[in-house]
Amino acid sequence: MTTEPLAADTATAEAGRDFIRDIVQADLASHKHSQVVTRFPPEPNGYLHIGHAKSIALNFGIAQEFGGQCNLRFDDTNPTREEQEYIDSIQADVHWLGYDWGTNLHYASDYFERLYEWAEGLIRDGHAYVDDQSQEEIRTSRGTLTEPGKNSPFRDRSVDENLDLFRRMKAGEFPNGARVLRARIDMASGNINLRDPVLYRILHAHHPRTGDTWSIYPSYDYAHGQSDAIEGITHSICTLEFEDHRPLYEWLLDKLPVPSKPRQYEMARLNLTYTLLSKRVLTQLVRDNHVSGWDDPRMPTIAGLKRRGVPPAAVREFIKRIGVAKANSVVDVGMLEFCIREELNRTSLRRMAVLRPLKVVIENYPEGQVEELEAINHPDNPEAGTRKIAFGRELYIERDDFMESPPKKFFRLSPGNEVRLRYAYFIKCTDVVKNDAGEIVELRCTYDPATKGGNAPDGRKVKATMHWLSAAQSKPAEIRVYNQLFANPSPNAGNFAADLNPQSLEVLTDARVEPAIAESNSPDVMQFERQGYFVRDKDSTADKLVFNRTIGLRDTFAKEVGGKG
Ligand code: ATP
Ligand code: MG
Repeated sequence: MTTEPLAADTATAEAGRDFIRDIVQADLASHKHSQVVTRFPPEPNGYLHIGHAKSIALNFGIAQEFGGQCNLRFDDTNPTREEQEYIDSIQADVHWLGYDWGTNLHYASDYFERLYEWAEGLIRDGHAYVDDQSQEEIRTSRGTLTEPGKNSPFRDRSVDENLDLFRRMKAGEFPNGARVLRARIDMASGNINLRDPVLYRILHAHHPRTGDTWSIYPSYDYAHGQSDAIEGITHSICTLEFEDHRPLYEWLLDKLPVPSKPRQYEMARLNLTYTLLSKRVLTQLVRDNHVSGWDDPRMPTIAGLKRRGVPPAAVREFIKRIGVAKANSVVDVGMLEFCIREELNRTSLRRMAVLRPLKVVIENYPEGQVEELEAINHPDNPEAGTRKIAFGRELYIERDDFMESPPKKFFRLSPGNEVRLRYAYFIKCTDVVKNDAGEIVELRCTYDPATKGGNAPDGRKVKATMHWLSAAQSKPAEIRVYNQLFANPSPNAGNFAADLNPQSLEVLTDARVEPAIAESNSPDVMQFERQGYFVRDKDSTADKLVFNRTIGLRDTFAKEVGGKG
């Protein structure tokens, strides 16, 4: 039914191995480390997205496979952008993906005191200085890829003056931006990250965990590697953008009295077609109400995937298939969808729902009679059992399943043509009822009582089997059909609003569902036969059932937008 797109790195993905696992295995074999310790280090300034899932699966997966440990560490060094809501959501999302940090939950802010003392040590050793230049001056004197930077006029302050100023920065004596602490490395370095990078900035901001204790906060580069060292991380895995930061990572570990020497490894970040995986963009989508929230089912966030009904096992399988490569690439979103369909096809129970109902009256079926027919819950899994569905004189079928003047290849219902109603009977359309506007509002049909269960004793065949529901027994529901959030396979992160898909959400307000669907629990994803996979949404109330379409049965989207066939 679906064709499987090629994995980004099929060879390694198939072996379940990658260059990072090879390194870990070699380091354990050579006794360089007795135990592998990894970490997942999110900044709590947004919800996690499927790109983070790659990092989570890699870090927690390696710890599991090699009997090691993986820490969850909040990189909470930027209090102006960080919130408790994000801390909570990140923990929930990691658990939902199936991983657990046990007791190894840390915050970079737990290390602020130690990081500060180490910074004083750098000053005493002549490796850091307080710079009074403005941010703008620092930026313009940094040079370019082809030109060296210029030394700051404050670069040669005495240790005593530096210590005094740094302590006063900490005491909150200066306004935001007045001064920074910089590493004294080399303003002519070919690597711009080594041109006296900023280690501390003044920020009078309330921190969710440390409150108003600090008026200065460490930079990412300063906090990150030292947090790794404090936690005894052996393999610090990050994305390729940080490759050029590695010399600074190592310089700091070399100059500071750290308790361990982690090593940084870089891998390709996950990019997906029709998707933007950037917290900045995702934050803006939420803020500007392009979506209903971080967990809008169109969002590539873990919370969005969860609400959409995507099983965590499908996300893990997807991450396994794409592998871990050293070169950036863009993965076809069809690959993720393939994994979702595979998992749901295996696990979800079959049900019947009519998304766009058209009333059918079976004229030769007795008024008021209701018949219970048996329907199977899963075609490949007899243990899933059967259920009863009610048949009666008034039914609903899918509007698309009827054509008054059908083209040659249309085998579903049309005047005079016989079809099978799944699990029920053969029916034939005898009349079409229209309203004043000429729209079809009802079909008049007859059924053949001898075809109960869906087969004719005389052996005659029909070319179509359709789903249907009893008008009286089925329940009304709202169904939300989602499509790609972006219409462009490579949306522009700069001006993403122009690339939004105006058809990303279609709300069907008068759908009908069978009682077994109405009674489902929200985490159960069901296959609505011939329509796709659906899950109950949290917006459901006692009066109104709401379902999200997790995914259709087939990859029709790529065809519609002229993508791959
Ligand atoms: P953004 O760039 O969207 O703000 P970030 O990478 O800065 O995201 P962090 O919270 O710092 O977000 O990320 C936590 C971890 O997840 C980091 O180790 C980062 O390398 C990893 N990560 C983030 N995005 C991806 C991605 N698309 N693919 C793989 N790993 C990712
Ligand atoms: Mg980051």
